[in-house]
Formats: sequence, C-alpha cells, structure tokens
Amino acid sequence: MGQAHDRVFNFSAGPGVLPVEVLEQARDGMMNWQGAGTSVMEMSHRGKWFMGIYEEAVADLRALLGVPDGYQVLFLQGGASSQFTMVPMNFLSEGGSADYAVTGSWGKKALQAAKIEGKINVVYDGKETGYDRAPSYGDLELSPGSDYFHFTLNETIQGVDYLADPSLDATVVCDMSSNILSRRIDVSKYALIYAGAQKNCGPAGATIVIVRDDMLERTPDGLPGMFDYRVQSESGSMLNTPPCWAIYVCGLVFKHWLRNGGIEAVERRNEEKAAKLYAAIDGSDGFYVGHAVPESRSRMNVPFKLADEDLTAEFIAEAAENGMVELKGHRSIGGARASIYNAFPMEGVEALTSFMADFRSRRG
Ligand SMILES: *Cc1c(COP(=O)(O)O)cnc(C)c1O
Repeated sequence: MGQAHDRVFNFSAGPGVLPVEVLEQARDGMMNWQGAGTSVMEMSHRGKWFMGIYEEAVADLRALLGVPDGYQVLFLQGGASSQFTMVPMNFLSEGGSADYAVTGSWGKKALQAAKIEGKINVVYDGKETGYDRAPSYGDLELSPGSDYFHFTLNETIQGVDYLADPSLDATVVCDMSSNILSRRIDVSKYALIYAGAQKNCGPAGATIVIVRDDMLERTPDGLPGMFDYRVQSESGSMLNTPPCWAIYVCGLVFKHWLRNGGIEAVERRNEEKAAKLYAAIDGSDGFYVGHAVPESRSRMNVPFKLADEDLTAEFIAEAAENGMVELKGHRSIGGARASIYNAFPMEGVEALTSFMADFRSRRG
C-alpha cells in the first residue's frame, strides 16, 4: 500500500496501531538511548534517566488529558483486567455495595470479578438489546449509599460508547481502556479512571490509573501492597520494577500527540474517520450492518456484519490480501470489526471504504 516501512493498514482491536514516528523513535533508542549507551529496557528504574522518562510521561499525560490537581497518575501492571479486581478490593467496603452498568463484554468481566469481592447491584445490563447501546446517564437508578459506580466508557467488542462524560452524584469509576486519549474528557467527573495502554496509548504491559486523592484514603488496611492504590501511589508506581519499556513508549506517544495539536486535534480526526466508515456502512443498502445503534456508536471500534454472513470470511481474507489486516470480528459476536484508534490513518479508512464498495459491487 506504499506506506512507510511497508506497513499494512492494521485494524487490530488490541494491541493496536502506534504512530510510525513513535516506533521509529523507539527503534532508534533501542541500542543507545539519547547517548546513554544503553536502551531504556536495560537501565535502572530508579536511576535518573528512567525517573526523567517516567516523570515526563506523567506530566505529558496530565497535560494531554487536562488532569486537574488533586489526582494522581499511576502506571501499574496486570492490565485493565487486574483493575477489575483491584477496584472492589480497595473501594468496596465491608457490608457495602457498588453499582455496575454493563454495556458489553468488558463490563461483564468487570462485574464478574467484582462479585467475588462483595455485593454488587447491576444498574444497567444491555443484554436485552444485544449490547448495542449505552444508556443515558440520567436513566441510571444508582443505589443510595453505594460505594461507587463502575462503567465501561467504550465497549471494545460491541463498539458501544456513551459518547459523553457522566455527571453523576456518585463516586464514578471508569474503564477507559479503548478510548482514553481519543477525545477530550472532563477528568473531574471521575473518581478513578483506568486503561490498559495497549489499545490507544502504547505497548501492552502498562496500565494507566488516574485516581482522585480522596480515594486513596478509602483503601482498607492490610491489603497486599501491589494491590493497594495508596501504597502504589506513595511509591510513585515503583513499589516494584515498573513496565519501563512500555511506560517509555507511552511517553513517546503522549509527546507525539502533544506535538500534533493535542487531544482536540485527535478528537477531530477520530470523528472524521468514524463518520466516513459509518457512512460506508449506512450507505450500503443493508449489505453491511453496524452493530451499535447510531446514538452509541464508538469512534474507536466499529463492528459490523455482512448481511450475507457467508461472505464474511471472503471479505476479511480479500481485505488482508489488499493490505488491510485484523478485520475479523471478535469470536463472541462474529462479523467484522475495524478498530480505528488514534494512530490509525485516514488513508486506511479510505482504503477500507473503497474496498467495501468494491466488494459490494462484485458480491452484492
Ligand atoms: C482490552 C480491554 C480490557 C482488558 O485489558 P487487559 O489489559 O488485557 O486486561 C478491559 N477493558 C476494555 C474496555 C478493553 O478494551
């Protein structure tokens, strides 16, 4: 397709595509990082070089997202999946309960993990409509006195997004793994945000946590340090060896977006890319059918089916032959899925929509 380094258009849902410039920088720093004579993978995490990298990554993320004072930024390990357990371990009180909204597969996993830790009220479950929409926040009947409310802002498998920040009189905990950095958010609406880095921020291995200071006073005594937000925060994410390389590459990604207009510009490009792709689906006379209802359509993950499902395998294989890879839908819902994260170029969306039109003209 004539892209730099003979790269294909990669629609992977995760780990997802990274900016070419960042990959080049990481490559160049691999043998000898900024004249240190060593790579970031090989230096002490407590030394001045890595501490500098770490502090810049935190500061740049704060700048990108507009994280206000009174919040800590951590880089933990164990992926978003560990947060499914860590959140209730830290915030679900003895005899208390928490509210969960489930709009898709990841929310369901978070719910299952939390149920092991204590009492959970499910305040929304999209099962009835096949997880094709997000509720409006105002319709949620949150339980008075619950310890927190947990939801998944963007469901990666179903492509369902709330498309707005919540404004709730509750302690709001949010899994933002697949759409963090994709648009402007108001961090002050959240008590805790977590996100595995590998969808939209960097390599797998680092998990971003943004936590409001008062939450750190709620953690119970006696938790193992690795699973205690307060202890992790007090140690500056360095209770043990952090995922140094992953944090370094996340930092390069943050700088890349800061240089390229910040989140506002990222958001505008994401809107354009998603609009183009959804228009191709909507304009196909039912040949392609999107999963989510229009009001809840994700701008990051676009699952769709071919009305004639027998054509799906052929569609995906032909796309791959044409340099468009990882379009297979998640095994749980089938069909196709195009993930178009921040670093995914508009040219790739144009290539896909042209291919979709061409495929339809031949097979429709
Ligand atoms: C991928 C994903 C997860 C799981 O992330 P891991 O880092 O693999 O544990 C959780 N939530 C959402 C929304 C995801 O997209």
